[in-house]
Amino acid sequence: MRIDVVSIFPEYLAALDLSLIGKARRENLLDLSVHDLRDFTHDRHRTVDDTPYGGGAGMVMKPGPWGSALSRIAAESPVTGAMVDKPILIVPAPAGAVFDQQMAYDLATAPHLVFACGRYEGIDERVLEHAEEDFDVRPVSIGDYVLNGGEVAVLAMVEAIGRLIPGVIGNPESLVEESHSDGLLEYPVYTKPGSWEGREVPEVLLSGNHNKIARFRRNKQLERTAARRPDLIVELDPATLNRHDRDT
Ligand code: SAM
Repeated sequence: MRIDVVSIFPEYLAALDLSLIGKARRENLLDLSVHDLRDFTHDRHRTVDDTPYGGGAGMVMKPGPWGSALSRIAAESPVTGAMVDKPILIVPAPAGAVFDQQMAYDLATAPHLVFACGRYEGIDERVLEHAEEDFDVRPVSIGDYVLNGGEVAVLAMVEAIGRLIPGVIGNPESLVEESHSDGLLEYPVYTKPGSWEGREVPEVLLSGNHNKIARFRRNKQLERTAARRPDLIVELDPATLNRHDRDT
């Protein structure tokens, strides 16, 4: 997969050199480039913002630098005009569709993702309209709160998407049982020592009985989801529940 990120703070994205995403880049599973939006300005001050038409507080990101940056990235995209799909342009925005695990799965199969990090009051709307010519444009929010810029949202999204690319996580089994993979939250996990600060690991986990362990974990998933995220229980497809689940 290829990922391009455009930001006025490219240093913010340095964390994408670390841990599993950094390793995936070094192993060529992920071809990720970060671009400085100011490199696409043409004035002495490398200006990227201006006052909003219609008045109001704050500044708005100018269309010119964004247009130039996105045109360059589109021209160099591995997704060519001969393909039906366009590269996907994700525009982090509190006014976007909310990012979730299903969206991460869908995006993990795309050949080329581009992230446009807004700052100030956001990007001039015409940039998104114009980008429709070259990209599948998707405004995406990472939650119902407001950040200062898109960079933190991109770190979260790239990590969630990147770990789903085949080969990035050593044991793909880890992806099967985790929270949100089956509509439920993950069960609690324990490691050695078996006794710590007077607290014991649940006995069933030491039993070696795989059926009982699976039942214990599934019960914990259901209990935890009902307690912490009742909205997920309501959305659960009843067909995914078995007889024992219904007793829980
Ligand atoms: N005026 C905008 C609004 O009310 O929708 C908020 C702009 S915010 C201060 C600046 C930038 O931070 C946005 O352009 C976006 O890139 C990013 N941002 C803020 N909150 C976000 C969120 N919840 N999800 C994704 N990106 C966010």
